[in-house]
Amino acid sequence: MARDSYVNVPRGLSAAGAQRPQPFPYPSHPLTPYAPAVVNVALTGMVAQRDRVPHVPVTPEQIVEDAVACYAAGATVLHVHARDADGRPDWRRCAYAELIPELRRRCPGVVVCVTTSGRDVAEVDRRADVLELEGDARPDMASLTLGSLNFHTGPSVNAIATIEELARRMRDRAIRPELEVFDLGMAHLAHRLTRDGLLPDGAYANLLLGFHNGAPADARALVALIDALPSGTVWAAAGLGAFQRAVNALALAIGGHVRTGLEDNPHLDHEDRAPATNAALVRRAVAQAEAVGRVVAGPAQARATLGLAT
Ligand code: MG
Repeated sequence: MARDSYVNVPRGLSAAGAQRPQPFPYPSHPLTPYAPAVVNVALTGMVAQRDRVPHVPVTPEQIVEDAVACYAAGATVLHVHARDADGRPDWRRCAYAELIPELRRRCPGVVVCVTTSGRDVAEVDRRADVLELEGDARPDMASLTLGSLNFHTGPSVNAIATIEELARRMRDRAIRPELEVFDLGMAHLAHRLTRDGLLPDGAYANLLLGFHNGAPADARALVALIDALPSGTVWAAAGLGAFQRAVNALALAIGGHVRTGLEDNPHLDHEDRAPATNAALVRRAVAQAEAVGRVVAGPAQARATLGLAT
């Protein structure tokens, strides 16, 4: 089968200016070394609480201290969810207004990516509230889940109209998306959103594998998702739960970037189930990168890779 035939773009769309099928975007390693690996740490998420995930940072002070430790260990993207005083997810921009400048002050050059998750709130105006911050508090990036799915704690609902409106507001605010892709249908949607000018060329996509209602955590699914994305997409991969270690290793070995952190996985070792810390998960990803000959990106390299000003 010809490589180009892997890409799922209807022929009619090509003539209309859609992304044309392109070959696998990364050259062979080690003849041409891969780009420095960008390590993204998803610190908190929507669900984890300290009674079950004792090291998850939930207060602004905990999030900052954890971010500093992860940055020192090699993380250059902070995927941030704010919580309220009771530890519940907080979509309000005021929850981020002091947190983001403090993250920038303590972690110079770091990429701040905020959530627009719809797991607790449905209204676009609420989900996009954090995008309205200005100055040092304006996020560099924001999550954009490209479809609906079922988590074991409940559904995450993302209607196409909602995805389009979130993408439009990010574009208009010059905030780049972190595309969250859980299956092929979500990768497919990225083509139409790119064609319609709602996603930037060379967008950053996180491929989240191993969830029971999404793509499985295996090499075939990962490569299928990579090939299904628009040409030039900067891809990273994350494994959910026990799959985090294997999916991170797989991505690093074939030229991708990675996301780790307690949002996606609470344990360093699923055999002994000892509680992990975000910094330990980052250190593991850095060690995995080094084991396959990858350089880990510093902040300026990460910003350049993700299409952000340095
Ligand atoms: Mg998130």
